Amino acid sequence: MRVLLVEDEPGMTQFICQGLNEVSYAVDVAVDGCTGLDYALSSDYDALILDIMLPKMDGLQLLRKLRNEGITTPVLLLTARDEVDDRVQGLDAGADDYLAKPFAFPELLARLRALLRRPPLQLNPILQVADLEMDVANRVVHRDGKQIDLSPREFALLEYLMRHPRQILTRDQIMEHIWNADFYGESNVVDVYIGYLRRKIDQGVDKPLLHTVRGVGYRLSARQDEA
Ligand code: CA
Repeated sequence: MRVLLVEDEPGMTQFICQGLNEVSYAVDVAVDGCTGLDYALSSDYDALILDIMLPKMDGLQLLRKLRNEGITTPVLLLTARDEVDDRVQGLDAGADDYLAKPFAFPELLARLRALLRRPPLQLNPILQVADLEMDVANRVVHRDGKQIDLSPREFALLEYLMRHPRQILTRDQIMEHIWNADFYGESNVVDVYIGYLRRKIDQGVDKPLLHTVRGVGYRLSARQDEA
């Protein structure tokens, strides 16, 4: 495991490096935010340990720049005080976890191990069911390589179906997730929009993806008979 530590206090740096070396993690150290950002952008680390209070560029700025560059390396933030503001700002800036100083080394190690077990953060998730693809961040849908134009409501409906592939979703479930309370009572609105969506994604193709489960609801699946 290769870890980047961005920390300006020599005592803290030594404490962390010594502990990580003992468990055979390779550690690079940057003593200010600008150097830390350079290192983080130029090497592929397994995790970053980032202090908030740093010279030149603080840890939160560094973190935002890193995430803006699309770097998804897990980040453990070190906060000087256990203050809610720091934690909230840190998590909003893209930190995966935080640890308030002072801390015991075994806790740092445990949190680091937990971060390394997590699947990488997906900044731009692409949802896929058979040859249907949705780029959620850029709001683009393709089927078999051809772009499909959807209204915002159709997009929301398809996103919900694509996030639950192969599951039977009842009209009530779909209603609750896609429409607000104003629409309750207009029970056929789900069927109407499923109809719109079906015309856009399934018309003229050999294998329809959007299936009606009679009396229950709908399912998005490459196979008609899949449970
Ligand atoms: Ca510091």
